[in-house]
Amino acid sequence: DAYLQAIESANDAINAYVTVTPEKALEMAKASDERIAAGKAGVLEGIPLGVKDLFATRDVHTQACSAVLSRFRPKYESTVTQNLWDDGAVMLGKLNMDEFAMGSSNESSHYGPVTNPWKASGSDQRLVPGGSSGGSAAAVAAHLCAGATATDTGGSIRQPAAFTGTVGIKPTYGRCSRWGIVAYASSLDQAGPIARDVRDAAILLKSMASVDDKDTTSVDIPVPDYEAALGQSLKGMRIGIPKEYRVEGMPEEIEKLWAQGVAWLKDAGAEIVDISLPHTKYALPAYYIVAPAEASSNLARYDGVRYGLRVDGKDIADMYEKTRAAGFGTEVKRRILIGTYVLSAGYYDAYYLQAQKVRTLIKRDFELAFNEVDTVLAPITPSSAFAIGDEALAADPVAMYMQDIFTVTVNMAGLPGLSVPAGLDAKGLPLGLQLIGRPFEESTLFKAAHVIE
Ligand code: GLN
Repeated sequence: DAYLQAIESANDAINAYVTVTPEKALEMAKASDERIAAGKAGVLEGIPLGVKDLFATRDVHTQACSAVLSRFRPKYESTVTQNLWDDGAVMLGKLNMDEFAMGSSNESSHYGPVTNPWKASGSDQRLVPGGSSGGSAAAVAAHLCAGATATDTGGSIRQPAAFTGTVGIKPTYGRCSRWGIVAYASSLDQAGPIARDVRDAAILLKSMASVDDKDTTSVDIPVPDYEAALGQSLKGMRIGIPKEYRVEGMPEEIEKLWAQGVAWLKDAGAEIVDISLPHTKYALPAYYIVAPAEASSNLARYDGVRYGLRVDGKDIADMYEKTRAAGFGTEVKRRILIGTYVLSAGYYDAYYLQAQKVRTLIKRDFELAFNEVDTVLAPITPSSAFAIGDEALAADPVAMYMQDIFTVTVNMAGLPGLSVPAGLDAKGLPLGLQLIGRPFEESTLFKAAHVIE
């Protein structure tokens, strides 16, 4: 009730929820009460959560915040959300996001931008919460849910977490099932939680993660008790500081915060090692080939026949064209065009194949680094939250893509990455730091992040 009331009074201003499910929430809460009374409480019993609009939720609108999926109600539940409900969690509703998870500011949603609950001191300007999981991050930061599901293809969990002072983790590729999650770029997409602190994120990820017959890329490795890692000493842990993340024009405040993070981890007993990840600078351009290529293939299914919107035409080709023209937003169309171009016969070798080779090199950089260190500490965003409608970013898509400079490497290599709030900038806005780990060593990230938070 308290969360539903909070949503009722604050959602008009924040726009974090695109669908609220009060009846379902109260019904699930009642079932929770009954299980608690019967002594059968799950680990998340009665905990109210928000769900990114990318996760299929049975009989509840699942629209990826796109007009092309308007009013789509799946008859099935995603594995990740089912895992949460099986542990007793309660669904409050569906959260706003960039259309099809394409974006870094949550401004490409068909349902309008999300307003970051944080404001710069002395200013009334509305700021973005980051993207694409902007609704998830804003809802958690504004106490409109106790935690939220999110997804990260190139930074969409970690960057919004950093912009809203919350904790977000993108687990290792294969840790969570992708079944029932609307696909953006299948070889990069992973689900993870956004939560108020490291402990909550650890508890939520344990519940979300599982091997799943319905997703052949999910991995059959036991899910550890991440919470047990919190509070352990960092003695013997080796932390790598990659020199390539010190990019030109990086604000001094972020540089300082990074140094502060190093000092905290050192104080807790960790050993700091300078490392090199030489192919880092190629990650962003390679990502913006691989991700749109996969998107152009995945989004071909929105043809006006199977899901959501249909705009009638004089024949089937005309119907496809009209449906897609009306249903997809500008950024999504841009990605489909880029993806189709880089996969076309004449350009495949020059772009797509080349990007896949770069991807292997990035992966190898990390493999070599992880021979020497246990985790990597790096910045997460090149700035704190920026204004909604920022003209420079709106006019230049590539400038917006630059937001992802510190996050996409992790997706390209399939590694776990965690964003933890580490301080405020001079404007009083939150800044985060990123921890990157070996495959399936999320516990190491939680342990180190707990020292920083
Ligand atoms: N900003 C990146 C993109 O637009 C990442 C999005 C994501 O992680 N879903 O592709």
